[in-house]
Amino acid sequence: IATLPPMGRPKRLGIMGGTFDPIHLGHLVTAEQARADLGLDEVVFLPAGQPWQKDDDATSAEHRYLMTVLATAGNPSFSVSRLEVDRDGPTYTVQTLRELRAALPETVLYFVTGADAILNILTWKDADECLELAVFVAATRPGYDLAKLEAQGVREQVQVLDVPALAISSTDVRSRFQRGRAVRYLIPREVEEFVRKHGLYGTPGNGLELG
Ligand code: ATP
Ligand code: MG
Repeated sequence: IATLPPMGRPKRLGIMGGTFDPIHLGHLVTAEQARADLGLDEVVFLPAGQPWQKDDDATSAEHRYLMTVLATAGNPSFSVSRLEVDRDGPTYTVQTLRELRAALPETVLYFVTGADAILNILTWKDADECLELAVFVAATRPGYDLAKLEAQGVREQVQVLDVPALAISSTDVRSRFQRGRAVRYLIPREVEEFVRKHGLYGTPGNGLELG
């Protein structure tokens, strides 16, 4: 988190939270659109820590973190934070925002989520505090209706971001790997290679994994 803004205005930092299991083009297009439309100096991707209920099927936080690094390495405005990966216990957005706010008091924080996730976060506890800590940005996502924001009375507190529609989800990408179907152009090439090398999502792997 080191990019400098133009002289005379506070830095604008986009925060892209997610499981990234794995990261796909929908995430990258959303982050880039947020950067351009909101004039962000930087977008930091925050892979979530391990879910508290220990699930053997869950991809390790380390693998998800590394795939996120591979996918974002070529974009000078993108970075990846280990904040949630390195934290013990469950991931709470409010805690993450508190920590970022304290560490970066002069920076305007933009918390970017897709249309599905925004509705969840705003119904959580501490939603009011979240809205004070960051500007909430709701990205359009195929299959999810932002009109529900209206119904929940939070439309005014959220900035809507129009993202080119990509009906890509990590769930679908995992299932494609599992069933041996094509994932090309849905995820970055480097991420596909990483998945096959490490035998994630039911792929055979190269047999070299140490555990
Ligand atoms: P899963 O199917 O495992 O839930 P996902 O594709 O929803 O995966 P997440 O890691 O859950 O990916 O999403 C991280 C953030 O990116 C969320 O805010 C989500 O709404 C947003 N997002 C994911 N895919 C898209 C997409 N295709 N278009 C716009 N936003 C997206
Ligand atoms: Mg999701």
